Amino acid sequence: MQAKKRRKAHSNDMRRNRLSVRIALITIVSSVFSILALEVIYAYVKGMVKDYDHIIEMDYKDVELMDSVMADIYQHQGIVFAHMVETDKDERKELMDEAAGIERRLQDTMTEFGESTRGTDYEKGYHEIFSDVSNYMKSVKLVVDMTKEHNEQTANYYMRSELIPIVRGMDQAVVELDKLIMEDVEKVKHSIQLNSDLMRIITRALLTLLILAAVFNVSYCLRISREMVSRDLLTNVANFDHLIEVGEKLGRKNRLSNYDGLAISIKDFKFVNQEYGSVIGDLVLKGYATTLNNELVRGEILARNGGDNFIALVEKGRVKEFLRSIDRVPVEVGDKMGLTLKSRCGIYQISEEDTIYDMINAGMIAVDETRASGADDFVWFRRERRDEMIRQKDILNGYHRAIDEEEFVVYYQPKVNLKTRTLCGCEALVRWIRNGELIPPNSFIPVLENDGKVQELDFYVFNRVCRDIGDWQRRGIQPVRVSSNFSKLHLHNKEFADDVLAVVNRYGADPYYLEAELTESSGYEDFDALTHFVSEMKEAGIHTSMDDFGTGYSSLSLLRDIDMDVIKLDRTFLRDQCDAKEERMVENIVRMIHDLNRYVICEGVETEEQVEFLKRVGCTMAQGFLFDRPLTREEFEKRLINPYYS
Ligand code: C2E
Ligand code: MG
Ligand code: MG
Repeated sequence: MQAKKRRKAHSNDMRRNRLSVRIALITIVSSVFSILALEVIYAYVKGMVKDYDHIIEMDYKDVELMDSVMADIYQHQGIVFAHMVETDKDERKELMDEAAGIERRLQDTMTEFGESTRGTDYEKGYHEIFSDVSNYMKSVKLVVDMTKEHNEQTANYYMRSELIPIVRGMDQAVVELDKLIMEDVEKVKHSIQLNSDLMRIITRALLTLLILAAVFNVSYCLRISREMVSRDLLTNVANFDHLIEVGEKLGRKNRLSNYDGLAISIKDFKFVNQEYGSVIGDLVLKGYATTLNNELVRGEILARNGGDNFIALVEKGRVKEFLRSIDRVPVEVGDKMGLTLKSRCGIYQISEEDTIYDMINAGMIAVDETRASGADDFVWFRRERRDEMIRQKDILNGYHRAIDEEEFVVYYQPKVNLKTRTLCGCEALVRWIRNGELIPPNSFIPVLENDGKVQELDFYVFNRVCRDIGDWQRRGIQPVRVSSNFSKLHLHNKEFADDVLAVVNRYGADPYYLEAELTESSGYEDFDALTHFVSEMKEAGIHTSMDDFGTGYSSLSLLRDIDMDVIKLDRTFLRDQCDAKEERMVENIVRMIHDLNRYVICEGVETEEQVEFLKRVGCTMAQGFLFDRPLTREEFEKRLINPYYS
């Protein structure tokens, strides 16, 4: 099974590489092929036309030569005839000279004609004409001689009976050869026509082939580029854009609701990165995605949504089977390393009205819930959770305006000395007055904390506290020490202590009246920052307190190692039915805190029984509804003026 999956991942890489090589090859081959084909066609046509031109040129030349031979013969014959009938001696001589000129020309023409037809189909015709011309010359010589001997009658007879048939025969031979040549010319022309038609067909076929190759090439490249564009580069599963495309397409066909949507992430993937580094982390991610992808059937899709987050559309009815397969995902990196990953998954039942975006939002809300609850790795989306998200968004959206418009108000909850039942301090607690409604901090502090906005609000409250202390002192009202809550997120800020002191200085507040409450840290990551902050505060004379002691994991070690002035016991210590054993335990904790020279105060005191319990275990300070609820500044001022509880 593992080997099969590895093979598949490997074959995906191979496929991608093969596709790139194929595109390059097709492009190169088709370009070379196009150029070669056009070159061949060009060379072939050029050669063919040149050959045919030559043939036709030669043929016409032969015809011209024959015509010239015949013209000379006829002219010569005319001169011979004139010579026959001429009586004047001088005129005769002149005629004979002219005839001799024509004979020379005739000889030249015949020589040229002979050379032109040598080795051709017309050579035979040339020889016939040549022998006719020779016969003519011989006969003419006889006729001339007869004329010279004044034997005109015999000459005349001879001319008619011998010379004229020779000329006629020659004429006939010329006509025949002429015809033959013209037929050949026609044949050549026809053949040119045929060949050019053939070439046209071949060229067209080649061009069509080239166009088809180009179209194929383009469509192939498009398909591959589409495939590459729709893939996630690291994991090779679909990317987010492709998921949206597929989801919208399914939506248009009313088929999206055939699926359930799953938002998946790897449980504790950040530890894989921390432990093995991001290179191995990437390989693990790739292996994980491949394994999940292999669990899909045709029509389903898995897409990466950044980091270790994936979205899948899985056919309704197949979700349980799919979830079983992603519960524990074995991933191998190389030959030596193997991990088994667990998944978190938020599942959303897609309805007919939903879009792919609804699915993604809902799936992500559900997967967030698996993180928040920490209990279940697979959570089906709940509407209430969405409402909660909307509420949180609303808080974040309204937050900045609330700061600007001073909608946040500071309340003070008294702390009481149980021995004297007098006011001995107070805690500043923020409220949000929004549209006339008072919103308790538990509704918005965790939201702001999640979004990293709470630090600003803490300083807003601390500013008010410093301002109020100065104000009370100016007005002659004796203040008490006021503790302000600071989220542990501040510990990421190296200037945290300086920022606190800057506010103190700005208002000229007496550090004696100030205390910074920090919630018990759950891990050691903040340890150094916490130590630094506490010592800076100590140096400045400001108290620090550990809030909600007893709810975290490392209470005792923090208590030992960090020198905070006050420990605030969480109200879980005040259980209604507290048996003797538990009481002894609390008693020992209180004693231990006192032994370490720290103050101890208990929160959430609501009954006199609880007061008695606290007194028994040695805790002498308390805060709770029994004495006072968190009070407005004006109410609290009255308490400052009258600090006694009956
Ligand atoms: P906390 O710092 O532990 O504050 C004590 C909470 O216990 C207050 O709730 C207080 O009203 C409540 N409480 C006091 N006495 C009793 C009692 O007898 N019974 C019951 N049931 N509750 C009692 P509150 O004001 O709603 O604040 C809740 C939490 O919000 C605070 O817990 C603190 O963690 C946070 N918070 C309040 N103001 C701020 C702030 O300015 N900054 C930060 N970071 N957190 C704040
Ligand atoms: Mg507190
Ligand atoms: Mg508390």
